Amino acid sequence: MAVLDKLVTWSRVKSPWVFHMNCGGCNACDIEVIAALMPRYDIERFGILLVGSPRHADVMIGTGTVTRQIAPRFKRLYEQMPEPKFVMAVGNCAISGGVFAGCYNVLEGLDKVVPVDIYIPGCPPKPEAIIDGVAKLLAKLQGG
Ligand code: SF4
Repeated sequence: MAVLDKLVTWSRVKSPWVFHMNCGGCNACDIEVIAALMPRYDIERFGILLVGSPRHADVMIGTGTVTRQIAPRFKRLYEQMPEPKFVMAVGNCAISGGVFAGCYNVLEGLDKVVPVDIYIPGCPPKPEAIIDGVAKLLAKLQGG
């Protein structure tokens, strides 16, 4: 069983599949996430693959302002992911509400809705920062 666990961890670290969800905000964070996925920054060299369903994902990337309207939808998608699952909050809006903090319909961060493993600050964060966050997440998966 220990060998099987090691194999599963190895395969997850070598090829984490990510699901991206935009909660709101201005969409600049989404553009940076897409830039990180494109050939110029080539996040696929780490084996990372963008998938269209939370049921196939190891990691959920959340961007934008978490509104009261989107929070239950984000949680529902999170619950559809298989265990173990991880969440990255990308951008100040996803971390704390950012420039929209204090609005009547805005929650102060994704971690008010689901557990968050990695925070990537910035408005928006550059692709380099997103890749750095992914590398930290992979180290975490390895127990490093
Ligand atoms: S953190 Fe900044 S760039 Fe990202 S969605 Fe919010 S306002 Fe836009």
